[in-house]
This record gives sequence, structure tokens and C-alpha cells, in this order.
Amino acid sequence: MSVLADLIDLLLPQHCAGCGQHPVLLCDACARPLRAAARPAGQAPAGLPPPWTVAAYEGPLRTILAAYKERGRAALAVPLGEALATAVHAALPSGPDPPPVVVWVPSGRRAVRRRGHDPLRGAVDVAVRRLRADGVPVTALDALRQRGRVADQAGLSAKERAANLKGAVEVRADVAGRRLVLVDDVVTTGASLAEAARALRAAGGEVTAAAAIAATPRHRPW
Ligand SMILES: [Zn+2]
Repeated sequence: MSVLADLIDLLLPQHCAGCGQHPVLLCDACARPLRAAARPAGQAPAGLPPPWTVAAYEGPLRTILAAYKERGRAALAVPLGEALATAVHAALPSGPDPPPVVVWVPSGRRAVRRRGHDPLRGAVDVAVRRLRADGVPVTALDALRQRGRVADQAGLSAKERAANLKGAVEVRADVAGRRLVLVDDVVTTGASLAEAARALRAAGGEVTAAAAIAATPRHRPW
């Protein structure tokens, strides 16, 4: 599948990242799930506010995220970041307090080295710009880093993922006393979000909300 997708990228670099059919970055049909209203994911790991998401991680969206994260379609940061903005906005607690600081779950060090950057950061930057343009004065903080000893999460059960991630994230910014909204690209079991939240709380941060672009379908309430 990814060989085919790479080949499509090579031969048809201006074709839809979701279906490969249309001469645009993302065709209307493939972009539609990213424009949906935000909803809370079906369940949240212990100690984590329920993550809000806009899309189910299935169909063309899997291809779109892979194109962005693994194959360097950097322009996808815009539609993915816009979707993330929708989820973050919905997740923000209401009330007079200033909006919290957006912190993202970091990619593994090897993945960042391979790609040359942390792709989620690009989507976060777009989301923050969108929210600020809409009058929500959020900021982003590059607060977390993987320690670099995490095994691939694919194929692990929820329990195994949690054990694999224990102590995997370190806090590299001053988050003490700050209100944080924690974001990731996809919620699978929620283990990555939960481990990041644990590290942030241990450093004195207050995780008040969680958001992601998509959730695996079993986390969706519909
Ligand atoms: Zn398409």
C-alpha cells in the first residue's frame, strides 16, 4: 500500500493525498471528514479529560495522515491543522480563565530524525494560528520530548502500550502552574496522551483538555 502511495506521489505529485484521483492537494470528498464538527472520543484513559476529535481514523484519512507524516506532503499541515483547531476549540474549558497552552505529544526521536521534523508541530502551528484568528488567544509550547527508547506501538494491546510508554516522555519546558491542552494526531488507545499527561502533571502542569484530529473508530461514540 505505501509502495503504491509512494509511487502515486512520485508520478502524480499534485494529486489528492487521500484518493490519488483529483489534481488537488485534497479533494472535497477526502477533505469532508476533516471539516466535521468536533465530538468527544468515546472514552478517556484514567486521569485524562475526554479527547475531542473531528474524524474517524479510517479510509482515506489514514492515507492522508501517512502522506503528511511519512511522505513529506507538508502542505497537508493546513487541512489537518484546521481540523485540529476545531477539536481544540471544542475541548477548551469554558469560563473566564485564559485559554490554556497547547502542548503536543511528540513523535519518537528516530521518527523525527528520519522525517527531519516533528510533523505534528506543523499542524499545531496551523491550529494555533486559526484559533488566534478566530479570537481564541491560545499559544503553543514545545514542552515534551520522547526519551527515545519506545518500541513501535503498532500491534500492542492497550495494556502493553501503556507499559511500553511508561516514563517515555520527558518535559523540557517550564509548565508548572500552567493550564495545558494536550493534543495528538490520532487517539488509538489513549496511552500516548495519558503518558504525556502524567509527565506534564508530574512537572506541575494542569492538563485541562485533550484533542486530536482523529480517533480509531472503536473510540467513537457513534
Ligand atoms: Zn481524494
